Amino acid sequence: QQAALEVTDLEVTFRSRGRGTVHAVDGVSLSVARGEVVGLVGESGCGKSSFARAVVGLERVSGGSVRLDGREVQPVGWRVRSDVRVQMVFQNPYSSLNPRRTIGSQIRDGIPADVADPEADVADLLERVGLGAEAATRYPHQFSGGQRQRVAIARALAPRPEILIADEPVTALDASAQAQIVTLLTSLVRDLDVGMLFISHDLALVRQIADRTAVMYLGRIVEDGATDTVWGDPAHPYTHALIDAIPRISAQATLPETLAGEVPDAAHVPTGCRFRPRCPSAMDICAEDPPVVRLGDRHAACWLHIETKEKHHV
Ligand code: SF4
Ligand code: MG
Repeated sequence: QQAALEVTDLEVTFRSRGRGTVHAVDGVSLSVARGEVVGLVGESGCGKSSFARAVVGLERVSGGSVRLDGREVQPVGWRVRSDVRVQMVFQNPYSSLNPRRTIGSQIRDGIPADVADPEADVADLLERVGLGAEAATRYPHQFSGGQRQRVAIARALAPRPEILIADEPVTALDASAQAQIVTLLTSLVRDLDVGMLFISHDLALVRQIADRTAVMYLGRIVEDGATDTVWGDPAHPYTHALIDAIPRISAQATLPETLAGEVPDAAHVPTGCRFRPRCPSAMDICAEDPPVVRLGDRHAACWLHIETKEKHHV
């Protein structure tokens, strides 16, 4: 099956006063097929949101390509032309809804012009997300946080996207609303055959819903593959450290405590393997950038999995 979304070697570079050049996304390749959930995990500051925003045209791309159904949608050096086939769901739906317009009219904005009865379409979308057609005449403030996320999902679905990118879609919600929204999103993926890139710091949640998982560290994917493989038998020490931290972080949105130190500033990426300053398995050879190797049904970028004479533990 051809990937609906195929991102190759994507780069996002900022020039920031005081920090210099920041490589927020440094050569990331990732694909999502219709009907598939791909999880993207990593600590805050690893570039997950910059990646997502670049793919939907909210961030300037400095290299690589974004393809939808095999066709390039993104000219390098400029923003991706926003393409209705990829829609984003944000952490805070309130900030992306207009408080002075009914939600029905806001959902209607996204419905393709050739739809004969857009009002019926709005009603159908509201039913699909579990709000009911009568919600169309209400305003954003009349909904709870979980309901507003349902509105945002209905609006994202209005243009009939092939891909949804959900960036921490349940992080701001209470536990019961979280579970309901996750159930809704995964059933929409199945029923509408859309692909979903699910970005989250909640590893237990990603493990539960993602078919494949990509682990991002300092602007790069360090490991990716089938979720059961990656989480069941991690190949990269960073994945390992994240998994060790799961019991501690599942309840709140805090960083993994078992990881020593913080994510370095993306403006000052360590030379060689960028995880080296925090890695318990670091070796001499890790002063060189590790290549990405294929290990069965996953990929990892770590010298531990590469046969070489020069490996000495430091
Ligand atoms: Fe650790 Fe070396 Fe692997 Fe990097 S390449 S994760 S420093 S063992
Ligand atoms: Mg983020």
